[in-house]
Amino acid sequence: MSKPSSRRPFSEALIRPLVRRLRAYAPGEQPRVKGLIKLNTNENPYPPSPKVYQAISDNLNGRLRLYPDPRARQLRQQLAKRHDCREAQVIIGNGSDDLLALATRAFVEPSSGTKNPSKATIQYFTPSYSLYPVLTDIHGAAANPVPLTSDFGMPSVAELKKKGFWDFRAALTFITTPNAPSGRAYAPSELERMCRAQQGVVILDEAYVDFAKESALNLASRYPHVIVSRTFSKSYSLCALRIGYFIGPPALIAALDKIRDSYNVNGLGQVAALAALRDRAYHRACLRRIVATRARLHDALQALGFEVLPSQTNFLMTRPPVWPAQAWLERLRAKKILVRWWPQPEVRDYLRITIGTEEETDKLLRVIESILTRASSRGK
Ligand SMILES: *Cc1c(COP(=O)(O)O)cnc(C)c1O
Repeated sequence: MSKPSSRRPFSEALIRPLVRRLRAYAPGEQPRVKGLIKLNTNENPYPPSPKVYQAISDNLNGRLRLYPDPRARQLRQQLAKRHDCREAQVIIGNGSDDLLALATRAFVEPSSGTKNPSKATIQYFTPSYSLYPVLTDIHGAAANPVPLTSDFGMPSVAELKKKGFWDFRAALTFITTPNAPSGRAYAPSELERMCRAQQGVVILDEAYVDFAKESALNLASRYPHVIVSRTFSKSYSLCALRIGYFIGPPALIAALDKIRDSYNVNGLGQVAALAALRDRAYHRACLRRIVATRARLHDALQALGFEVLPSQTNFLMTRPPVWPAQAWLERLRAKKILVRWWPQPEVRDYLRITIGTEEETDKLLRVIESILTRASSRGK
């Protein structure tokens, strides 16, 4: 019998140190609990257009054994038409996450491969989408996280210059707009000033823009270094099918196109996205409902003593009264309502609540009221 060895097990030693050390992205929970009200991952509470189901079932016959269109031509043409740009400015991904990862590989040097630190720098504001630091680590690049202002505003270019920790030459800058998890949107003029100050590629991640008043999409046609990222996951209710896209300058789009998997976009996703895109009336009606529910929930929470940040997304960032946010997370979970909370200091006083259906919102408000009533009857 051999003595216990202090050496690392053999399999571990085969893994690149970078991957061994890596902390993977932590997605929100997807529990399958009956009757659960799921307000934790910003999914659309309404199903996709009925035309999506029809398109999928029309394509189930026979097509499953064939490879999908590797270039997703129809969908790209339709998106180019919709956004008034050229087909060469559009690339589709297996969700926009796929494209965000491709962008790190196309535009950023790993830290070990360059003498110029900016070429290996990926920068973003905090808090914003928590995938960016993970993509940075996976690529072996250097992260430059820069805090937003205390009310989650974007510091001005002048402030960033004065403070000196923003890298205007960073190879890649991610800006989530409207921002997650704060829900706050940035004006196109403000975004344009930021873009103009950057030397490297800027990706404006507009995952939530359909719930907002305005978009900065036209910057992607006017600047040689600006890309706008969109997804069918949120406003089109197609999370499960994984369709996202970038609009950007043809040269940058062509670079991404070179390094993607040839079949990165599944066939059912392509037909579903096309059908969803074509049913504009359904999409608009769905957005109207969510925006109306957002306004109602905003006011109702405020009336119950919650501090609620203005939102241009399908979620509300809110600071609850009486107990710490984490305690609210647990009390709501006990009542089968799932919301999102993070332990990081700049957000740990907040809960992020996805906008649900009207009925789910009624239930949420009833549960919150009952929790508060019990609190006051116990003298807290
Ligand atoms: C949901 C989300 C995405 C990813 O969307 P997929 O297309 O589903 O990969 C990207 N960015 C932000 C900020 C998001 O919230």
